Amino acid sequence: MRFEILTLFPEVVTCVLESSIIGRASQNGYISVGAHNIRDYTLDKHKKTDDTPYGGGKGMLMSTQPIVDCYEDVSKKLPNGKTKTIYASPRGRVFNHEIAKELAEYDNIIILCGHYEGIDQRVIDEIVDEEISIGDYVLTGGEIPACIIVDAVARLVPGVLSDKECYEKESIASGLLEYPQYTRPRSFRGKEVPEVLLSGHHENIDKWRLENSLELTKERRPDLYEKYIREHPIKEKKKK
Ligand code: SAM
Repeated sequence: MRFEILTLFPEVVTCVLESSIIGRASQNGYISVGAHNIRDYTLDKHKKTDDTPYGGGKGMLMSTQPIVDCYEDVSKKLPNGKTKTIYASPRGRVFNHEIAKELAEYDNIIILCGHYEGIDQRVIDEIVDEEISIGDYVLTGGEIPACIIVDAVARLVPGVLSDKECYEKESIASGLLEYPQYTRPRSFRGKEVPEVLLSGHHENIDKWRLENSLELTKERRPDLYEKYIREHPIKEKKKK
């Protein structure tokens, strides 16, 4: 799967996405991540990529020509396949695990990062399939949202994580929040690892984990809890 990020600050994106698990996944060929500097495409002799908004108002808007030229250059080099162009924007559909799963079905994802006051609407109308927000707050640029989207989607691409279980059993993907986890040492500042986890009794361990997940989800995310109970009525009965 390919991710192509169009940005004025490619170094922000590469710094994050060339590291750790996502960086390794790129090196091993499971995904490919490109970061393209919109400024390289400007025809302005001063390398300008923004201008003041028509109608007045504070701040600068990213202008049409450099973005559209960058987009066209990147898209013509993409291999054939299902492609989607996203504009990271606080006006968009709010990102979650379901959207990550939808995006993981594509072969190529292009993400346009805005900056300053955003971008000229005609760019959105011309090249963008969907605006996606990473939450109800406003950041200075779309680079961090782009990294979040790539990270969450890439984890779902076969081979990126060592085992499908790694994400299927985690918070949210499982429908619940994760139970508490522990590693060595058995005792830390007087706090002991729950006895059942040391027992080697897998059925009891699974039961303890499910009960703890249910309790935590009920307390912190009643919306998720209600949905899970609706979809898994037998498991709730067993608990009682
Ligand atoms: N004037 C814009 C508005 O009111 O909708 C906000 C512009 S914001 C300061 C600059 C850029 O950061 C946006 O163009 C977008 O790419 C990115 N951005 C900010 N908050 C975001 C969010 N919650 N989700 C995704 N992208 C966001």
